[in-house]
Amino acid sequence: MVPCPLIEWRDGLESGDLSPTFLALRCLDRMDLFEERLNAIVFRDPDMTLSVARSAEERLTRRERSPMLGIPLVLKDNLNWRGTPARNGSRIGGSYMSPYNATVVQRLLAAGAIPLAKANMDEFAMGSSGEHSVSGPTRNPWDLTRVPGGSSSGSIVSVAAGYAPFALGTDTGGSVRLPASFCNVTALRPTYGVLSRFGVTAMASSLDQVGPLAANAQDLAIGFSVMVGRDPLDSTSVDLPNADRLKDLQAGSLKGLRVGLPREYFGDGIDPGVRSVLGTAIQRLASEGAELVEVSLPNTAYAIETYYLICTSEVSSNMSRFDGVRYGLRKDADSLNGMISETRDLGFGPEVKRRILLGAFCLSKGYYDAYYLKALKARTLITRDFTEAFRKVNVLLTPVSPTVAFKIGAKTEAPMAMYMADIFTVTTSLAALPCLSIPAGFAAPADDPSKSLPVGMQLIGPPLSDVKLLEWAHAFQLLTDHHRKTPPLAS
Ligand code: GLN
Repeated sequence: MVPCPLIEWRDGLESGDLSPTFLALRCLDRMDLFEERLNAIVFRDPDMTLSVARSAEERLTRRERSPMLGIPLVLKDNLNWRGTPARNGSRIGGSYMSPYNATVVQRLLAAGAIPLAKANMDEFAMGSSGEHSVSGPTRNPWDLTRVPGGSSSGSIVSVAAGYAPFALGTDTGGSVRLPASFCNVTALRPTYGVLSRFGVTAMASSLDQVGPLAANAQDLAIGFSVMVGRDPLDSTSVDLPNADRLKDLQAGSLKGLRVGLPREYFGDGIDPGVRSVLGTAIQRLASEGAELVEVSLPNTAYAIETYYLICTSEVSSNMSRFDGVRYGLRKDADSLNGMISETRDLGFGPEVKRRILLGAFCLSKGYYDAYYLKALKARTLITRDFTEAFRKVNVLLTPVSPTVAFKIGAKTEAPMAMYMADIFTVTTSLAALPCLSIPAGFAAPADDPSKSLPVGMQLIGPPLSDVKLLEWAHAFQLLTDHHRKTPPLAS
């Protein structure tokens, strides 16, 4: 049985058979049961959660109806939730407490959703494994010796392990899609601008997006529906067309759907198990009448370099605000400069320091044109590849990752190997496109043929096609049951 069936819970809340307090307590109990093993949560305040639940209860009694009213959820630790810590997985977070709500959090609260906890994450969302956190690594509920994927590790595991039916992560270069693929969760990276970034800790501002997560596309759409819409506090935010279809998501038609398969995403380096799962999923779509079209995105070859040049440049700028003066940790010293450098040296972990150094180098005089400016040009070419492809097809289908979840520690000493895990996710971030990671099946990892681990499939659409993508994903999920499988977590 699925531990947190969002739609059943919503119906039960509306009919009065379930109460928000009962559901919140049930979720908190489940965290108690598994947290020692999973380490997905970094903060909870049950009293605060239960007081929000009680007010949801009153609203329900007054016969108020809203799709998320009374539904529990988990928030990534880089989203401001008033009155709680936001440490961003970093020592430099110190004892910082959010004085305000991020717009996405504010909208969920206004809709009556019940935040349960803040979730573990890679430090400042830099990472692909969930291992770079001051709170220690999060573990994959499908195999505790493996990573859940990052950087939204704790949010994804919260959904996978049934702590909550809905969670928020963020995705700069794949941080909801990769872990969703490793943990059998459905995750959306919306079109850039569809969800407000106000109150979200900035990592790389031209790439950052909030990413909703749930067990399936229908549940995801319900939570997503209460957060969309332009936000005057984020000038890059935009309205989402067809948002009214999210609350009661219907299956999109697969018949005649032109599905593009980019040649560059199915080349060497993909695990045979992943390849075969994707092959089966593609055939399933074809048997429903989808038309398969091979396309080419030739500039994919430059994606990792382009992403890491732009990302680190923006990171080096965004991280400069953590100087010991305004936020979190401070290590006193004899001079102002001494205080700043000692605070940053003590506060930041190695991956964040690496990116600050790389980014400062890219932006420095004499190198700016050779690195940063060149990367911006490559970004334009990558975006153009997609524009060309969408002249021929409605949607693109690719793997999310070349492998299933890897072992904890396998890539921590090899930053390039870690960066390569994002090979299929960073391109769409650069091109600002909406994309989904959805469960596609199970495969054995290359290092252990006896295991069977989740494999995700990525659907990519043209700008602002978010609703349609979810409708096609829902159609696929009506035909398959991979997303209903839950990890073997014995209590
Ligand atoms: N893994 C990628 C990185 O380390 C993406 C991170 C993210 O999306 N926040 O940059």
